Amino acid sequence: MSFNVAVDGPAGAGKSTIAKAVAKQLNLIYVDTGAMYRAMALLVLRNNIDPSDTDAVIEKCCSADISICYQDGEQVVMLNGDNVNPYLRTEEVGNATSVISTIPKVREKMVELQQNLAASSDCIMDGRDIGTCVLPNAQLKVYLTADSAVRAKRRYDELAAKGQVCDLQKIQADIEERDYRDMHRETSPLRQAEDAVLVDTSLMTVEEVIHRLVQLCLERQN
Ligand code: C5P
Repeated sequence: MSFNVAVDGPAGAGKSTIAKAVAKQLNLIYVDTGAMYRAMALLVLRNNIDPSDTDAVIEKCCSADISICYQDGEQVVMLNGDNVNPYLRTEEVGNATSVISTIPKVREKMVELQQNLAASSDCIMDGRDIGTCVLPNAQLKVYLTADSAVRAKRRYDELAAKGQVCDLQKIQADIEERDYRDMHRETSPLRQAEDAVLVDTSLMTVEEVIHRLVQLCLERQN
């Protein structure tokens, strides 16, 4: 049986940074499920479809060919045959993603792909519904969170480092709106699984969080 770790939490809590580092230390595959939903949103935006036009989104997403592969240890999302990684991490795509990911049909397609991956490999998977829906039997579930002001500042620094012009207050407002939508949608809302370990990273360094998760994984692996 494969060893599966589920990491859930709101936007900007540091899930991907932490999960990537833990994967490297413990030789697990890192699966970024947000990137899969982002690829679907990118497809929708590229086709000038309004993300809230559910029927049009479903039609486009159902016929899309989406898969993930690994190049030099990095997850690559392939959308209709193209590597779309460079286009996924913008605020525009992030906001559209939280709209299209409320649609049950879109989620069904993604969850099936994610469950197949986890069944065949030892992995750490991050997202919003991993512990509650995708991997209910994961050996370890972590709910990673932080104050929204702290998360906004981290996202701001990340974007600024890439040279993107941004406004801290707008980022915080977007994050709060996205969290609200993710936590209040009908299908698989973001919430802490009953058996998840809560890790609040507001006052922790990245190294401290990585250390905490590695320790938790080692405890559950034995
Ligand atoms: O984690 P990331 O910021 O890349 O996720 C973008 C959006 O994708 C989230 O705000 C959420 O709406 C959606 N998502 C989801 N379920 C997941 C992963 C992401 O609904 N498992």
